[in-house]
Amino acid sequence: MTEKENLLGKTYNEILEITSTRKLPEYAAKQITDWLYKKKTGSIEQMSNLSKEARLGLHADYYIGLTPPVDFQLSTDGTKKYLFKVKSDKFIESVFIPESERATLCISSQVGCKMGCVFCMTGKQGFLGNLTSGEILNQIMSVPESEKLSNYVFMGMGEPLANTEQLLKTLDVMTSAYGFSLSPSRITVSTIGIIPGMEQVIERSRCHIAISLHSPFETERQELMPVEKAFPIKRVIDFLKSKSVDKQRKISFEYIMFKGINDTARHVNGLTRLLNGLRCRINLIRYHSIPGVAFESSDEETIQWFRTRLNEKGLLTTIRASRGKDIFAACGMLSTSQEKSFL
Ligand code: SF4
Repeated sequence: MTEKENLLGKTYNEILEITSTRKLPEYAAKQITDWLYKKKTGSIEQMSNLSKEARLGLHADYYIGLTPPVDFQLSTDGTKKYLFKVKSDKFIESVFIPESERATLCISSQVGCKMGCVFCMTGKQGFLGNLTSGEILNQIMSVPESEKLSNYVFMGMGEPLANTEQLLKTLDVMTSAYGFSLSPSRITVSTIGIIPGMEQVIERSRCHIAISLHSPFETERQELMPVEKAFPIKRVIDFLKSKSVDKQRKISFEYIMFKGINDTARHVNGLTRLLNGLRCRINLIRYHSIPGVAFESSDEETIQWFRTRLNEKGLLTTIRASRGKDIFAACGMLSTSQEKSFL
């Protein structure tokens, strides 16, 4: 017996293929995407404008993978970390971050990660699999705050551009009229600089891109992020400069501040040289200690000084507020390695 497929996460064109194979009228594809992405129904039986026969046929081969989180933790600052069960025995986390002006969901794209950045809990967990577009969209649709969300960042577990096909399908559903009709300006895809994936995101979407930078120097960056070997940051920047990125799309760089490692005047100068001529902004992020890693965060004074120096050099630089640190929901702290025996 072949396994049933998840309808959630399928693009309009994929649904159209399903309806035409089943000799259903062309408008059935629109009816199905309406049920999935506008009415957010969890069952094929409820698709009442499809014939009974069509529903039975679909039900035999498909399901709708809309599943609520299995647990959550609440931070003292209001941040909420949700735990989702995916595939039969694996777990991922998504983080809801309420702010006065907006409400952001930090979304996972993989179970664990194989990129091995030395400061990251997800990297320590190792790689356990890619999420499907249905599993990615389910995080957005199934958090209790779904209707309140204003911003979406692919900065949760995993490297989104190591799962580009599923990510692009997700972005298609999120931004198309048949799906959620969200403005791409509300969506940011974060990457450590996988150039082929960045190329696809630039060609096939208009979402913002955030690149994890952490050091302007090749050898030092490689010690923090092994990806530097395959995709040197210099090449990533040259690639971005070669693209005529439209003005609506924001390019930003994430820079975690490690005490005595990447927070000196030499690094300010290195960043200035590296980013010269690129329209972008830098987000400085306090480092959040994780077990078994000896790094410390730069102190507040140094972080403020670093920001001022970069701004003086003409690089628009801000400091990101730390959220959800007490529940291990802040940047670099997501991991589900403890959840194997949950449920
Ligand atoms: S920082 Fe991102 S890419 Fe690096 S190990 Fe963590 S999840 Fe993977």
